Amino acid sequence: MHIEARHLTKSFGSFRATDNVSFGIEKGKLIGLLGPSGGGKTTILRMLAGLEEPDSGDILFHGQRVNDLAPQARGIGFVFQNYALFRHMTVFDNIAFGLTVQKKSKAQIKARVEELIELTGLKGLTGRLPHQLSGGQRQRVAFARAIAPEPQLLLLDEPFAAIDAKVRKELRTWLKEMIDRVGITTIFVTHDQEEAVEVADQIMIINHGRLEQQGTPIEIYKKPRTPFVAGFIGESNQLGDISNLKGFEADLLPNARAIIRPEFIEIGRPGEVSYPSAAEQGTVKQVYFRGINWQVEVEVEGDRLFAYRSPELPELKIGEQVQVLIHRVYLFNEQDQLTQE
Ligand code: ATP
Repeated sequence: MHIEARHLTKSFGSFRATDNVSFGIEKGKLIGLLGPSGGGKTTILRMLAGLEEPDSGDILFHGQRVNDLAPQARGIGFVFQNYALFRHMTVFDNIAFGLTVQKKSKAQIKARVEELIELTGLKGLTGRLPHQLSGGQRQRVAFARAIAPEPQLLLLDEPFAAIDAKVRKELRTWLKEMIDRVGITTIFVTHDQEEAVEVADQIMIINHGRLEQQGTPIEIYKKPRTPFVAGFIGESNQLGDISNLKGFEADLLPNARAIIRPEFIEIGRPGEVSYPSAAEQGTVKQVYFRGINWQVEVEVEGDRLFAYRSPELPELKIGEQVQVLIHRVYLFNEQDQLTQE
């Protein structure tokens, strides 16, 4: 493993911000660190960077323990959401900064900065000051500056949070291409699940200081390990009791929690669902047209479920009786572990 955390724990006073977190990251991967606000994402980054000391646990780079290494000796690049460019320095000097600190020769610095300008599409902007750039351009400069000294690990803390939605979408695709090209192991913090799913090779989901799951976006989507993960990635219906639903034996499932994704549900008039005999009866409560589908809220045995319906099919009316066919259910036991799908 390139970057490893073993049983990291960190408290502030009596508050446990990081709780026994372990993970491994392979070289060159782009990792999305995802979770709700206050979950502990920044604290993990700060420990990796050496800006915060863990109470217990180890951090290893290439198998070497780095707990006692000073931040500047760890070879880490940073990009934060508030740009943190040097305001009085040009684009060129900002990118050159880390190389100057490393006491590279003028010629080496020039060659590397020019390479990065080319790579990050900043040509023609080298003489500008940060205030003469757009938010997206500033983040590209921040990225170029962070990777200029060829760090072992790049940490991005909500790098696109301050940028409007459209540019943000472009920037994250851009970021993915850049990381693939330069091959630097990168962890980026976000609380935007769409952002993480779209660009990350792997996602780590942090909640209440604990690592709930690490995996590829598809693994996490298809096999959420906890109800929290199922609710956080993708859309879901959470049900306390499914013993009324067809095909689910109540006594097989004591205290199970069920999660049903909307795309696991077929909903329609008689003749529209694929196995009518296995379908439940439901009552339509709400219908929204979303372009790619209808989103329908339906009541089944006292539970409200969100389901999708093909936009090709006619609109359902509120109050209408419909057939509801549930294709799959995620079941979690009392310890909140996925037991069946
Ligand atoms: P956000 O998405 O809001 O940035 P986060 O997941 O990055 O949140 P952290 O910044 O790691 O969360 O904070 C985790 C918890 O630890 C929070 O409750 C925070 O208030 C607390 N915390 C972080 N740093 C300190 C500190 N230096 N002293 C006291 N409490 C802290």
